[in-house]
Amino acid sequence: MAYQQPNLPYEKNALEPHISAQTLDFHYGKHHAAYVTKYNGFVKDTEYDVMSLEDVIKASAGDASKAAIFNNGAQAWNHTFYWNCMSPNGGGAPGGKLAELIDRDCGSLDNFKTAFKDAAATQFGSGWAWLVLSNGKLDVVKTLNAANPMTEGKTPLLTIDVWEHAYYLDFQNRRPDYIDTFLDKLVNWAFVEENLNAAL
Ligand code: MN
Repeated sequence: MAYQQPNLPYEKNALEPHISAQTLDFHYGKHHAAYVTKYNGFVKDTEYDVMSLEDVIKASAGDASKAAIFNNGAQAWNHTFYWNCMSPNGGGAPGGKLAELIDRDCGSLDNFKTAFKDAAATQFGSGWAWLVLSNGKLDVVKTLNAANPMTEGKTPLLTIDVWEHAYYLDFQNRRPDYIDTFLDKLVNWAFVEENLNAAL
């Protein structure tokens, strides 16, 4: 059963002027699509072929002989999750239980933003920054390359892609400006709340 790349949850120009249609054309249409194609090629005719993408990611993590399957599978998952973490009407402040837990575990929304920006800006090279639920508490973590916190028993709630291909066409080397824009204009708190409610 080949894994299908899900459709983008909005039009390619929907995040303009913050993230351009050109970026999404390459990022969704080339980078993400290539991870999906390679993943399907690597799992074909293996025991992983019948497993869900999440199960394959967890089963192949840390196994050097399965690095190609893990890297392409995790990147397939991470990008789908990332598209949903943004919205044309994003930004603002979270509500409900999520707002309560951010205050409880991060101190305040501003403190969360500082921690998330710091994690995203200081991820050396390629990777991701995440808000996760870990042992019932919110935490901010960063991961290298394709790595996903789900392999450590943490539930991803929010992510930002900090591979250069995510921001270079729009922000060039200014990764901190991309992170600020993500948090101020794009973050889809409703999706983060859905993920939290499903995990609690
Ligand atoms: Mn990417």
